[in-house]
Amino acid sequence: MKVYLDHAATTPIRMEVYDKMMENMAKDFANADSIHSLGRESANIVLSCRDNIAKLIGAQSKEIYFTSGGTESDNWAIKGVAFANKEKGKHIITTKIEHPAIYNSCAFLEENGFEVTYLDVDKYGFVNPEDLIKAIREDTILISIMFANNEIGTIQDIKTLCSIAKERGIIFHTDAVQATGTIKYDVNELGVDLLSMSGHKFYGPKGIGALYIKEGTKIAPFVNGGEQERGRRGGTTPVSLIVGLSEALSIALKELDDNNSNVYYLKHRLINELKKEDISINGSIEKDTSLPGTVSITFNKTKPGIVLNNLDMEGICASAGSACTAASEKPSRTLLAIGLSEEDSKRSVRFSIGRDNTKEEIDYTISTIKEILARVRED
Ligand code: PLP
Repeated sequence: MKVYLDHAATTPIRMEVYDKMMENMAKDFANADSIHSLGRESANIVLSCRDNIAKLIGAQSKEIYFTSGGTESDNWAIKGVAFANKEKGKHIITTKIEHPAIYNSCAFLEENGFEVTYLDVDKYGFVNPEDLIKAIREDTILISIMFANNEIGTIQDIKTLCSIAKERGIIFHTDAVQATGTIKYDVNELGVDLLSMSGHKFYGPKGIGALYIKEGTKIAPFVNGGEQERGRRGGTTPVSLIVGLSEALSIALKELDDNNSNVYYLKHRLINELKKEDISINGSIEKDTSLPGTVSITFNKTKPGIVLNNLDMEGICASAGSACTAASEKPSRTLLAIGLSEEDSKRSVRFSIGRDNTKEEIDYTISTIKEILARVRED
């Protein structure tokens, strides 16, 4: 039996999305920037997708910019704001638990004359608004705090954190790559200036994402090239990927309540059974402050990495930390930030449940974990 419990790393594309993309790829191949009739047809398709995505998140169409995914959106938000506002100041605030797309963009800026404050989080992974207030300086130009964490699933109170930035005239970005498609939000209600999303996290295609840029936000173009994306992000428009992104987001938000209650039920079935073993849960698992399908579990008294490897041998696909750091031997930055030791971080497994998982699969996972623990547990 193969059980896929790694939906935070990526999700399988929905067949409805795939079908729409294939149809588009076969039929509407023309360059959306060509001025002939076929080009105009492609441009119209892109326009209607942009309108749709904007509507779904409460934005204006002209505030949606297509990118190659979450990593590019994050890089653009951080570096674009830094470069465009450097005369005003060179200080940026983020957190210790951001995805490498944010963390390494900030590290790059530090090597190039900017200063970055990395906020601590508490043991559940929450940023304390008081810490944010204390970290703000005269020269702070940007605050970037992720919406939902990719390893422990903790959801931040973005509205409150953003209001602290806005009261002081500071640009606020949120990495909503894990949140989009799982949490309903409206960018104006949140108050954010910039927001990143990525198609493959909500059953859409890989290689496409978007950056919401509130009208009037001072940000430098990111990919220099042609006039695509209003001259701010060059490159021939990937029409069929955009069709996939738009369709995937529509379906995800339409089916959000049903999907969330199903994955939440399955996650708690897993947690409740595993609680009978010697385990620790990392981060928040409360309904309103954690992603419904994501949980990080430390298997106490086991050799680092052994549970995950055994799960893989039994056909169960989960992750240690995030997929982006899985290949490295480094302990998870997020787990260290919430207070785990290096050893404990390496004996932790992230399970991320998705819409296709079944009760039978979760029960198989539970019984397999119990067998593995009986074999590998150290006293
Ligand atoms: N931000 C977060 C929170 C993520 O979980 C990921 C992907 O794992 C990314 C950014 C990067 O997104 P992409 O894979 O589309 O580049």
